[in-house]
Amino acid sequence: MAKELDSSIQYLAGVGPKRAELLRRELGIETLSDLIHLYPFRYIDRSGITPIAQVAPDLAFVQLQATVVTRTLYGPAGSIVSQETNPIHFGACKRLSVIVEDASGRMEMVFFKGIKWNFQRLVPGATFLFFGKPQAFGTRMNIVHPEVDAPQEGAMSQGALMGVYPSTEKLKAGGITGKVMCKLQSAALSLCLPEVEETLPEYVLRDRGLVSLPYALKNIHFPKDSYALQKATYRLKFEELFFLQLSLLKQKYVRSRGERGLQMPKVGPDFHACYNALPYSLTGAQQRVIKEIRADLTSGHQMNRLLQGDVGSGKTMVAVLSCLMAIGNGFQTCIMAPTEVLAQQHYANIQKYLKPTSVQCALLTGSTTQKERRAIHAALEDGSLGIIVGTHALLEDNVVFRNLGLAVIDEQHRFGVEQRSKLWSKGPLVPPGSGAWAPRAQRSAAIPLEGVQGVKASLDQNVPPHILVMTATPIPRTLAMTLYGDLDVSVIDEMPPGRKPVQTMCIGQNRRAAMYKFMREEIARGRQVFVVFPLIFESEKMDLQNLEQGYEEIVSAFPLPDYKVAIVHGQQSSEEKNFNMSAFVAGRANILVSTTVIEVGVDVPNASVMVIESAQRFGLSQLHQLRGRVGRGAEKSYCILVKDVKTSKEAQQRLDLMCQTEDGFEIAEQDMKMRGPGDLEGTQQSGLPISLNIASLAKDGQLLTEARIYAGQVLDADPTLSAPQNAPLVRELRKEKYEIRDFSRIS
Ligand code: ADP
Ligand code: MG
Repeated sequence: MAKELDSSIQYLAGVGPKRAELLRRELGIETLSDLIHLYPFRYIDRSGITPIAQVAPDLAFVQLQATVVTRTLYGPAGSIVSQETNPIHFGACKRLSVIVEDASGRMEMVFFKGIKWNFQRLVPGATFLFFGKPQAFGTRMNIVHPEVDAPQEGAMSQGALMGVYPSTEKLKAGGITGKVMCKLQSAALSLCLPEVEETLPEYVLRDRGLVSLPYALKNIHFPKDSYALQKATYRLKFEELFFLQLSLLKQKYVRSRGERGLQMPKVGPDFHACYNALPYSLTGAQQRVIKEIRADLTSGHQMNRLLQGDVGSGKTMVAVLSCLMAIGNGFQTCIMAPTEVLAQQHYANIQKYLKPTSVQCALLTGSTTQKERRAIHAALEDGSLGIIVGTHALLEDNVVFRNLGLAVIDEQHRFGVEQRSKLWSKGPLVPPGSGAWAPRAQRSAAIPLEGVQGVKASLDQNVPPHILVMTATPIPRTLAMTLYGDLDVSVIDEMPPGRKPVQTMCIGQNRRAAMYKFMREEIARGRQVFVVFPLIFESEKMDLQNLEQGYEEIVSAFPLPDYKVAIVHGQQSSEEKNFNMSAFVAGRANILVSTTVIEVGVDVPNASVMVIESAQRFGLSQLHQLRGRVGRGAEKSYCILVKDVKTSKEAQQRLDLMCQTEDGFEIAEQDMKMRGPGDLEGTQQSGLPISLNIASLAKDGQLLTEARIYAGQVLDADPTLSAPQNAPLVRELRKEKYEIRDFSRIS
C-alpha cells in the first residue's frame, strides 16, 4: 500500500539520521507524509528583480541581479585579513564582505558562515541573483547571508512564488535552510504524489469546485502561479474545516439520537414559587434561554448545553430556575463553582432565591467540617437535598447522589478535564419512565441494561445527568463552533436593565496622584475600590513581592484610621483569603488589593472603581472579566487602566479597545484576531481540540461556517455515512487528526 508516504524521512535524499532527528525534534516530522503536510506559511515573489538604488530597509525581501566588485575578509576585531591576496587562512576569518553592483548602484553582501565557499564562488566580475532581507547598517544597506543563485538557475526556473517554511534556529544551524527545505519537499513530492489518495468524495469536489488533493499538495509547495496557489489553499483549508465539523456534528448527531436522557416533563411548584417571587422580570434573553433548557429537559435526550453570557448578564438566575425544573421532577441538582469564595457567594444568592420554595440547599467545599459533611452526604443519599452548591469537593467519590438530574458547572474553563468527566458518572442508574430510576445507593444491585437503547456500558451503566455549562468568557462564534461544536449553545446577549456603563480610561504613571485623589473622592462617597496587580514574574515569590510593594504603596497613600485596605492573593491560606475577601464584601475595607483571584464571579455591588495596575500585561478577556466586577450597583462605575512606560504597540491596542467598547463578544473577536485562537484565554488550558494545519479559526471564519453548513448537509443526506460514495469520508474521519476530544463529556 502507501509505502513511500509512510517511510521514514531519514531515507530521503539529503536527510540522513542526524537531520531526521532534527526534523523530528523541531517540527515533529517523521515520515514523508508528515513532511509534505508541512506547508509554507508564506510565499515570496521571486519573479521581480529590484534595482539596487531602490532597495530600502522596509522592503521585506528583495531579489537583485548584480555583479561582484570586491571581496574583503575580516578577522576577529574587524582587522582586514586579506583582500584578494593568497594564500588565505580562512580559519582566521570572521566575516566576508562582498560589494556588488548593478546599473543603478552598489551594495554589500555579508557572510559570517560559509566564508570559504562563498569567497571562492563570488569572484569579481561574475553575476548572480542575490535574495534576502535588506537592512540598514549605518548609512549603508546590506543583506546578511543572502541566497545566491546563478541567474539561469534562479528565479523563474523554480516558479516565481517560493514557499517559506516554518523553521527554527536549530534547523538552520543543522543545515536545513529554506532552500534545503524546498529541495526536500520537491524530492518527497515526486516520490509521494502518485500515492496520494483523494480524501474527498467526487461529488464534494464537484459541489464545492475544489481542485484534487495531489494538485493542491503540489501547488501549495510549488505554486504554478498565484491562481493555482489560491485554489490549492482553498481546497486544503476547506477540507480541514469540513472534516473537523463533520466529526463534531456526527458526534452531536449520535448523541441527540442515542444518548438516553432523563425525562423531566414537569415544571413543578418550586419553579413557580421562585419565579413569581422574583423582584424583577427576567430579561428577554433569560426567558429565551430558560425555554431552550426546558425543551432539552423534556426531549428525552441528555442535555449538553453551553450557556454564554457576559459578566452580570444574570446566569445564576437561569441556573437556579433550571435546577428547580429538575427538582420539580423529583431529581437532585448540583452547582459547581471553581473557587470557594464563588461557591459561597452562589450559595448565599441561591438561598435568597429559594426562600419562597421548599427546596433544601447546602454548601460543600474544602472547608466544610466532617460533621457537616456527614449530614450532607446523608441528605444527598436520601434525596432530601435538592441543590448542592460547591467546589470540586463535589466530585469526590464519597459524594453520592440519590438521583442527580442536572449538573450546572459555572466558569467551565477553570475545571480540569478529568474533574468534569466525573460528574457524568454521578447520574442515576436507569432512566425513569419505565419504572423509577434506581437510586444510586443500590448500585451494587444494578439492573442489567441490555436492551436499554443508547446507554453505554462505558458510562458505568448510569444515565448521565443533564449538563449545563456556564461561562462568562465570551467565545467568538467560530471558536465556539469548534470547541463546542457538539454542544448546543445558548447566549444571554442582553443585560438586566439598570446596569450603568463602566467608564473606562487608560492613564500613565504620571497621573497616579490624580487617580489616588479620585479614589479618595469615591471612598468619601461610601464606595469601594478594587486594585488588581498582574502576575508578572516567573516565580510566585516575586509576584508576591510585586503585589506587596503595590499594597504598601496603597496603604501609605490610604493610611489608617481613615482607610482600611484588604489584600488577597493566591499564597494565602483559604481562611485568610476568605477573611479578607469577606471584609471587603461586607464593606469593612474600602480598598481590596489583589491578584486576579477576584477575576471570576465575585459580586460587590458597592464597588465602583476598578484599578488595574500594569494593565498592559493583561490579556483582553482578562481585562474584560476584571472590569465586569464593577458596575453592578446603582452607582456610576469606573475602570482605570494604569499602564507602565514600557507598553508595546499591541498592548496599547488592547487598552484602546477596552476604552472603546464594553461588549464582551466584540472584545473576544478582536482578541482572537490580535492573538490567534490558540492563545485565547479560557481556552489555553484545554487547548484546541485539534491542531489545524492550514486553516485559521481567526481568519477563516467565513469558510468555517460554509464547511459546517456543508457538513450538515452531507450528514442530513446520509446520517451514518454508509453510502458508498461517502466511504472516503469514513476513512478520513478515522485518522487521529480528526479524533476530537468529546468536549461535552468533559465540560
Ligand atoms: P452572572 O453570573 O451572569 O455574572 P448574575 O447572575 O450574578 O450574573 O447576575 C448579576 C446581577 O444581576 C445579580 O445581582 C442579579 O440579581 C441581577 N439580575 C439577574 N437577572 C436580572 C434581571 N432580569 N433583572 C434585574 N436584575 C437581574
Ligand atoms: Mg456568575
